[in-house]
Amino acid sequence: MRIALCDNKRIYAEKADKFHEYICPLCQEVVILKKGRIIPAYFSHKIHASCKDSFHHEEMTPWHIYFQSLFQEDQIEVVISSDKEKHRADALINKTIFEFQHSFMSYQEFDKRNQFYTKLGYHLIWLFDMKEEYDKGNIKESMKRNNLFEFDSPLSTFKHLDLKENITLLFQLGGRGEKESDYPIVKIEWKNDNFTRFIAKQVRFSSYIHPKS
Ligand SMILES: [Zn+2]
Repeated sequence: MRIALCDNKRIYAEKADKFHEYICPLCQEVVILKKGRIIPAYFSHKIHASCKDSFHHEEMTPWHIYFQSLFQEDQIEVVISSDKEKHRADALINKTIFEFQHSFMSYQEFDKRNQFYTKLGYHLIWLFDMKEEYDKGNIKESMKRNNLFEFDSPLSTFKHLDLKENITLLFQLGGRGEKESDYPIVKIEWKNDNFTRFIAKQVRFSSYIHPKS
């Protein structure tokens, strides 16, 4: 995680120092500042901490950090609470939550997050890093029709997904570029029952952050 509390204020790990105590905004336990030369600074729980936020890993990938960097400081890692649960959204703007997913996610975990956030009335925008799936040929553009894509072997993650439920699904596909911003992002608009085929239209991610009023 990149944000912790110091005297009840949200502090970015990059701006934190070793002389203060930092608290996890979720479980209120003391967290440790990790600063290295290669990976960006982050906060980590102590080894036996039992933070209730099962939604996120502590260390983040450069991919994740790139997309978070498109948001303002007060929009990222926002704690969302219901009566029984608390979770940390990757980013929040008004009633829209952004989640960035780089590694494989089980459908149980995916369904759980979707239920948690949509029940509280949030619109959820998922961005999945599918560059590898695209580059290795598991996602292919179908020759028959424009914008129609196919999964060779569909990911189980999406097996219960209903796009009518206030959820937007975006994939970042591979194929070109060196920077994250060079890779195309597509909005998934339709699926068949087992999510082998879908229609994907290229979108600009920034249009979700700054929607036209
Ligand atoms: Zn915690």
